[in-house]
Amino acid sequence: MVIPEPKSVFVRVKCPDCGNEQIVFNKPATKVTCLICGALLAEPTGGKGRFLGEVLGEYK
Ligand SMILES: [Zn+2]
Repeated sequence: MVIPEPKSVFVRVKCPDCGNEQIVFNKPATKVTCLICGALLAEPTGGKGRFLGEVLGEYK
């Protein structure tokens, strides 16, 4: 029996504070912070993550 995998999508988010572009999972399990300045970039919700920076693109 084949269990369909949930779609894994990564998004490129631009840090609102320093402009760093970072690849993050679109359904983060924990808060994701900028590697450069430590600003919060994404936080988990019930389903998709909430992104605090500008989402520049998706990678499937
Ligand atoms: Zn930053």
